[in-house]
Order: sequence, then C-alpha cells, then structure tokens
Amino acid sequence: MMAQPKIIDYMIVHELCHLHQKNHSDAFWNEVDKVMPDYRERKSWLKKHGAGLDL
Ligand SMILES: [Zn+2]
Repeated sequence: MMAQPKIIDYMIVHELCHLHQKNHSDAFWNEVDKVMPDYRERKSWLKKHGAGLDL
C-alpha cells in the first residue's frame, strides 16, 4: 500500500518534532499539533493501513 502525500507529510513532521522531543509525550504531540492541526486523522490512517515504517 502506497502512503498518500499527506501521510508522508505527517511522517516528516513527526520525525522533525522528534528532534526536540525524543519521546511520544504530551509535549511531543502538542508540537505536532502546532504544525499540523489535523495530524490525528493522518495518524489514524497510518495505524489502520501502516506505511512499512516504525514510527
Ligand atoms: Zn515517533
């Protein structure tokens, strides 16, 4: 299954936020939310379909 561009965007933002937050704490998700307010939709797509990546 090919990941959609918006899913890839989410993965990039996710990784960039890990530069500041090396975990999945509330502070981490807060940072993701600031950059990408609709990240939850993309995150749940990934959870359902996967992307062959461990994020
Ligand atoms: Zn992560």
